[in-house]
Amino acid sequence: MPINFDNRFARKFPEIITHQPIQPDGKVKLLWLNTDLWAELSAGEQPPDNLADWLGGLEPWPGAEPIAQKYAGHQFGHFNPYLGDGRGLLMGQVAVGDKLQDIHVKGAGPTPYSRGADGRAVLRSSIRELLASEALHALGIPTTRALALIKTEGKIQRERVEPGAMLARTAATHVRFGHFEHCFHRGLEETMKNLWQDTIEVVWPHLAGASIADQFSAVVKSTAEMIAAWQAYGFIHGVMNTDNLSLAGETFDFGPYAFLDEYEPEKIFNHTDAGGRYGFLQQPGVGLWNLRKLAQAISPLTKAGELQPALDNYEAELRSAYLNLMAKRLGIPSVPADQRMSLIGGWLSLLEVNNADYQLSFRDLIDSIESGEPKGLLSNSGESWWQEYKAAIGENSEVTLMKQVNPWVIVRNHHAQQVIEASEAGNDDLLRDYIAALFNPFSDSLRESRWAKPPAAEEKVSQLSCSS
Ligand code: AMP
Ligand code: MG
Repeated sequence: MPINFDNRFARKFPEIITHQPIQPDGKVKLLWLNTDLWAELSAGEQPPDNLADWLGGLEPWPGAEPIAQKYAGHQFGHFNPYLGDGRGLLMGQVAVGDKLQDIHVKGAGPTPYSRGADGRAVLRSSIRELLASEALHALGIPTTRALALIKTEGKIQRERVEPGAMLARTAATHVRFGHFEHCFHRGLEETMKNLWQDTIEVVWPHLAGASIADQFSAVVKSTAEMIAAWQAYGFIHGVMNTDNLSLAGETFDFGPYAFLDEYEPEKIFNHTDAGGRYGFLQQPGVGLWNLRKLAQAISPLTKAGELQPALDNYEAELRSAYLNLMAKRLGIPSVPADQRMSLIGGWLSLLEVNNADYQLSFRDLIDSIESGEPKGLLSNSGESWWQEYKAAIGENSEVTLMKQVNPWVIVRNHHAQQVIEASEAGNDDLLRDYIAALFNPFSDSLRESRWAKPPAAEEKVSQLSCSS
């Protein structure tokens, strides 16, 4: 059997799941398989020929025990008790080394938690999730992973009629902050206690016997580090509801996300987010707001005030992780702290004032160091920052490090759009080519690639549909 499932969640938490097979939506075609990830999950076994039929519900997946999980959550600041897996199913857990990985299929048909919606996922949003999760992973940012993408025969009504798809993904856990909010709301204290301990054991086995305060600290730290990395790489999640935050601190449930092209920190991409709650600069604060909701939810497991020190540390954790990453990106890890701060602040202002491309400007900086001449942005209005920078680094340039952390390629909305349109028309070569670039984003061979080019004025995507 190619994948050896251990269906721990289904076994341990019957009171917060519904058994639910994948409901097929016509014949299926495998568009993409993450072969490396498959090899990890299956201990090197070849993927079976009928894998797409397993994923599409046409044949039962041997050993899997598909379930929909019940959870709640705060959506755009308001509590919603009616959430749960409305279209994604947990197939089970798989041991990889000494850790467990969840396998989940999204777009698998309606469940008791679908709230009248169709339970399906369109090809567009499935491709977008695939691209983002693999791009973030390649950048070293904690995230769920994309395992396989199938196209179905389904015709799905969104703003337009769109082709349907199912995406299989893996995650350290699918337990969300919202799982605990559900237990709190329903008074399921015993379930909450077991779910907390079980999730800690799965994600951080070394903390299994630790105090809840220390375990909660690990959640706070992971969340802070994840968001710090989003900020350093210009990633906007777009829907940071508590049901979309994983306890493991992995980037999770991709909706109308974006990476910044031009450095416009105030820009809002999610068109349903009129108040800008989930804008780029709001993310660190919203992370803390969400952690507070989690702390409230698990308060029955703790003594009063016990979780506060961890929450108090959040900002410092996030700041320190962010400054570390920015120092690497700018090649200034050995520069004294006050100078480092001044260079980071000056750099961001320079980018903002000049509407400079957030990713490629770091590459201009590398070119400037290598040639000794200010390039791109630095050759015109950046002259004084460049002088300050040169004085700070002296003879100690960190070009090798900088090349390891500054990508040529990230997910850009206009590229995602091109790939999606080609796939919708039946051509998946472009998708594969883009994924290959995203897998290897730091490679200098991408310098002249189409995938390294920022959008021309007419290609810019200003807002993204939330429908998926
Ligand atoms: P999201 O914020 O997109 O992760 O989704 C919020 C909730 O809506 C989750 O409980 C999803 O399972 C559910 N949901 C989203 N889209 C659909 C759909 N097409 N059919 C059923 N449930 C959905
Ligand atoms: Mg969600």
